Amino acid sequence: MKVYLNLLIIFFVLIINSCSNNNKNISFHFPNVSQLDEEEEVFLQKKILINEMIYASKLLHKISWPILKKNIDICNHNGSYSLGVLFAAEQDLPKNDSSYYRLLLNREINPYYFKKYDTVSFPIIISVAKNSPAYKSQLLEKDIILEINSQKVWDFREKLKESLTHSSVINFTILRNDKVIKKSIQGIKACNYNVQAMPASSPNAFADGEKVFITLAAIKLAKTEDELAFLIGHELAHNIYHYNYKKGTEANNFTINYLDIPKLKNLNSFFLFSTHNKETEADLKGVEIAFKAGYSLDNVNDYWRRLSVFNPSLISSSSTVYKSNALRAIMISKTLKRLKVSNEKKQKK
Ligand SMILES: [Zn+2]
Repeated sequence: MKVYLNLLIIFFVLIINSCSNNNKNISFHFPNVSQLDEEEEVFLQKKILINEMIYASKLLHKISWPILKKNIDICNHNGSYSLGVLFAAEQDLPKNDSSYYRLLLNREINPYYFKKYDTVSFPIIISVAKNSPAYKSQLLEKDIILEINSQKVWDFREKLKESLTHSSVINFTILRNDKVIKKSIQGIKACNYNVQAMPASSPNAFADGEKVFITLAAIKLAKTEDELAFLIGHELAHNIYHYNYKKGTEANNFTINYLDIPKLKNLNSFFLFSTHNKETEADLKGVEIAFKAGYSLDNVNDYWRRLSVFNPSLISSSSTVYKSNALRAIMISKTLKRLKVSNEKKQKK
């Protein structure tokens, strides 16, 4: 977790300078902008935002599922089951965006089905993690959910949560290529933390005890899956070792909800106790957590080196909570080396 205050200050100073230098009276012609012009541009920008969220959510899902599955021995799973699938539903977006959901994710559905299943929109599958229960039951991306446990899809997430909490088996009626298919999926136990993408312009990651948030800027800064696996591992380590037990569920894993942010109440309790040691613990446990899921993490420190280009003051000095980027990189390398040596010894036995 890092807030790049310095960068922000420089940014605002630049804006103030660049906007206040010119006081001359100049005449210009206001273009005539109709409401329709604006609505079209708003739609375009919302479409880009939602598509970026979907791309980032799929990437994070692909990387985080094996981590959540392989670390079951160290984290809380509180009885709720996981399917390894990510959904989007109209209710995930603000009310004003309902029409965008229908246009972007429900447009190809035959109007007949809305009438038959008595709904204005259907949830859709955004991602199916490899080798997950959903994958083995052959659920596919873009499958449309017509029914959950033979019930209407109103309050889809509530019904999903209810089902994952009380039963290992969940039934879906699915629409795929205009064909209706029934699927029954047997959930498994995995760590119940949600790993989500979050719009923000600075590369950063957060944990609030229930979820892990990786900013879109961090996802764009990372060049390999290993780098993101480490960031996820670090934040999961905070959730596992530094927060109290929380009742998470895969049903709360949002893919297009661009307004979902870390719960401040939880974050505050974390900040009270946040120390150098906790950050070092999260780094070193984070390496173990990601490594256990099969990530080699070979060039993972390139992330810190790239980050230092944006924030040179962090290369060798340390802020109040964090050690310098140089020190973090060295400690991560040494931990990784130790893990690899012990892994090789285990394999030789
Ligand atoms: Zn941290």
